Amino acid sequence: MYYEARIHEIIEVASALAAAEKIRSESMYTYQVMKWTSKDGNYYMYAVPDGHLDEMLAELAILRQGKNQDDAPYQQVESITNGWIDDTDILARHLQDAESSTIIMKSNAQLIIDKPKGDEQASFTCGCCGNWFKDNVQKQLKFDQDAGYGICDRCQQWY
Ligand SMILES: [Zn+2]
Repeated sequence: MYYEARIHEIIEVASALAAAEKIRSESMYTYQVMKWTSKDGNYYMYAVPDGHLDEMLAELAILRQGKNQDDAPYQQVESITNGWIDDTDILARHLQDAESSTIIMKSNAQLIIDKPKGDEQASFTCGCCGNWFKDNVQKQLKFDQDAGYGICDRCQQWY
């Protein structure tokens, strides 16, 4: 759920295994998203860092998008606690299973690539008072808070 407030860059890889290797090697930035095509060719798959702050790779949101449809929504099909997995092959298997998942956790997930379009809403924790609030992602960018954090309306008078 943290990923929905963040701006991402897409890294295309060949397969679920290649995505797992890249994630496990920790040679990716936490704003990067691994993208590959499912084995059956029906979906684009996305592994999105979804942990909080220092441990963004500890959680992964797995999204998929129908390939043969314009503007297909992102479906979140899996949430993987990567921090508890200590083997690349096991992570690869989880990623592969997500390709054909029958469980849709969220049918219209938000994935912001390069820059917000302007209408994206997300949940933030206020970096000033600690309150949880919803706001427009683009509006919050100017406060330049750490991932998952923003500045709530009440505290904005101090910024
Ligand atoms: Zn506040």
